[in-house]
Amino acid sequence: MKKCPHCQQKLNPFSLSFAAFPVYFKCNGCKTRLTLKRVKAFWLTYLLYSVIILPIVVHTPFINNHNLSLPVMIAGAFVLYYFVANYLLRQENIVIYK
Ligand SMILES: [Zn+2]
Repeated sequence: MKKCPHCQQKLNPFSLSFAAFPVYFKCNGCKTRLTLKRVKAFWLTYLLYSVIILPIVVHTPFINNHNLSLPVMIAGAFVLYYFVANYLLRQENIVIYK
């Protein structure tokens, strides 16, 4: 499903550039610049992350006492990122950036 519209190579969500995602990203195979038609889900998830993960990290004594805030935040971000990237990379949502 998640293929580059230019070279048909499979897209790996973790190969996307974190810095530019979701505005645009490059295909690993042909280096074509791709962009997403709809990025609303990305910002929605970002918002959800802030209101769900951050309070959990801040208010859970176990996490605070064991200095786990950072690993939990990073793990949470990766899990969410993975699901959101898979959702955003649906075939009809990828277009070649011009
Ligand atoms: Zn490609």
